[in-house]
Amino acid sequence: MADGSDKIGGAEQLLHDIFGFTEFRPGQAEIVSAVAAGEDVLAIMPTGGGKSLCYQLPALMRGGVTLVISPLIALMRDQVRALKEAGVEAGALTSGNTPEETDAVWAGLEAGTLRLLYMAPERLAAGGVPQMLRRAGVGLIAVDEAHCVSQWGHDFRPDYLRIGELKRALDVPLAAFTATADEETREEIGRKLFEAPPRTFLRGFDRPNIHLAFAAKDGPRRQILDFASARKGQSGIIYCGTRAKTEGLAEALNKAGIPALAYHGGMEADQRREGERRFQQEDGLVVAATIAFGMGVDKPDIRWVAHADLPKSIEGYYQEIGRAGRDGAPAETLTLFGPDDIRYRRQQIDEGMAPDERKGADHGRLNALLGLAEALGCRRQVLLRYFGEELAEPCGNCDLCDAPPDVFDGTEPVRMALSAALRSEERFGAGHLIDILRGTATDKVRQWRHDDLPTFGVGAKWSKAEWQAILRQMQARDLIRPDPARHGALRMTEAARPVLRGEESVTLRRDAMTRAARPAPRVR
Ligand code: ADP
Ligand code: ZN
Repeated sequence: MADGSDKIGGAEQLLHDIFGFTEFRPGQAEIVSAVAAGEDVLAIMPTGGGKSLCYQLPALMRGGVTLVISPLIALMRDQVRALKEAGVEAGALTSGNTPEETDAVWAGLEAGTLRLLYMAPERLAAGGVPQMLRRAGVGLIAVDEAHCVSQWGHDFRPDYLRIGELKRALDVPLAAFTATADEETREEIGRKLFEAPPRTFLRGFDRPNIHLAFAAKDGPRRQILDFASARKGQSGIIYCGTRAKTEGLAEALNKAGIPALAYHGGMEADQRREGERRFQQEDGLVVAATIAFGMGVDKPDIRWVAHADLPKSIEGYYQEIGRAGRDGAPAETLTLFGPDDIRYRRQQIDEGMAPDERKGADHGRLNALLGLAEALGCRRQVLLRYFGEELAEPCGNCDLCDAPPDVFDGTEPVRMALSAALRSEERFGAGHLIDILRGTATDKVRQWRHDDLPTFGVGAKWSKAEWQAILRQMQARDLIRPDPARHGALRMTEAARPVLRGEESVTLRRDAMTRAARPAPRVR
């Protein structure tokens, strides 16, 4: 590995160990490595895009103290608290401090243990600040909301004008962040904060050449084989949830005349390297892999990426499909998902060692991915909105733009399903609930006397397959969740209460119900 990727390898470790994230969001890795390398950087990222990580991680990778200047006191306090909880020594000098807090910050600075020092810009005006910061060993300045330096903007903060001076006095690199992308502001930030034009990162998150598509699992192996066969001769990656599946799929593909190999972390290092080398050099090779595959791969002409199983999070999804079409030419993707995936991913989170707060956040990220899977309109709009970017028009390059989904008001069946779950004490899985709803008096239904429930048979007008689609969409919207302590029995979530009370309605996709979402392979 080259030096650069080693550095990013270290960054990924910290990303995981300190922040609890498995993947970088779009743009983060490049910015982190530039800042960590001591370059002057101006990064423009949409709000919610994950800017703070772009200076917090380099702060940990570099020695000394990183000074973070931000006008938002509440945000500084939040970040300091979160960093401390993660075991990172951080402190803030703001007007909101108690004397004890301020003393603790000074003590940390003196002892040389503080890694991040947050400061409001007003503080820069106090006498002796540059000397103090030099003594404390500040080695990097990060400026949040950097557009506050712009005299023409409405967020102008006069004290921001002192930052350039401070950078010169300390002679350290500076990384400036803002969500304001217009060229004038950018130019002004460059001029006022830096001596020479900084390295600028202005990249929307969109990868418009990548076609996005999801499909409900319906004979998943055949779905993947069909997708790959329609693209024979092109290089592609199939991400699988298990090692065994990578091997099974590679074998099936080879049998179908599509050259393929398996790749996973359980293989010998030599074998993995050989796989990477072949994929890089040969045309039209398919790799069926776990997420272990990809880091070291830099092949610009990967034409497609398929997910045989639902990825872990929306970040993981985007990073994995992002390996396709780096050359800018059209590339295609297909992500399969089913109720088992949802159950498995929830279970993985619940059974993990993470603290409860982080588990909650992980469920949230999974929900975002499920929302994308069951989207009702343009997927790219949903995806980019999650990363903080607005796409004004539907993209025209996703399966839902190709064929808008047929939707209907699903409030009635959703309420029926919720009531069936509640009346059977949230102790049963989808199969049994469907039997109750459809009025099928199985032995199990009789044994529990569920044929006496008022919900028994109320949903007979929907078929079993339709109910499965309804329950899956309910899981995707996080209205019901499998309970890991009860073998995946479906329980109602808080989000479902307003629906049950009749205060909210639920729009469902009909296509996911009738034609079991069989994608016609698109061949260009
Ligand atoms: P902003 O760009 O608005 O400053 P933040 O830095 O506050 O955004 O990040 C927005 C949210 O995204 C936070 O909740 C943060 O925890 C989350 N986030 C940032 N980076 C990642 C990542 N690599 N994986 C998952 N979540 C992330
Ligand atoms: Zn679209």
